[in-house]
Amino acid sequence: MAGATSPSQPCIFCQIARGSTSTPLLHADDKVVAFQDIKPSAFRHYLVIPVEHIPTVRDLQRRNEDYALVSHMLNVGQTLLRRDAPQSNQYRFGFHQPPLNSVHHLHLHCLALPFIPR
Ligand SMILES: [Zn+2]
Ligand SMILES: [Zn+2]
Repeated sequence: MAGATSPSQPCIFCQIARGSTSTPLLHADDKVVAFQDIKPSAFRHYLVIPVEHIPTVRDLQRRNEDYALVSHMLNVGQTLLRRDAPQSNQYRFGFHQPPLNSVHHLHLHCLALPFIPR
């Protein structure tokens, strides 16, 4: 997927994954990074993204590597929520389904309820 973003339109999530923004990373390894959603809609609302630029869930392939990546993203999200919201017993995890993508870099929303009223 390298080259999917041109230098003139840098992908914000790629920049975050590379650590070239001021966004504090809650988790970082060679496959994924996690950080807080800028507009949290729940008590805790984190995003877990692959370091590699993968635009949407449709770009995942039915191969072991991608299954492993998605289960790793879920694991990281669960671990962070259990650590930061142990009193919440309602966690939600979800990908956007195209075309409802806010940012075109695959990201897993990880929420610990309650939701923040709007
Ligand atoms: Zn990206
Ligand atoms: Zn999103």
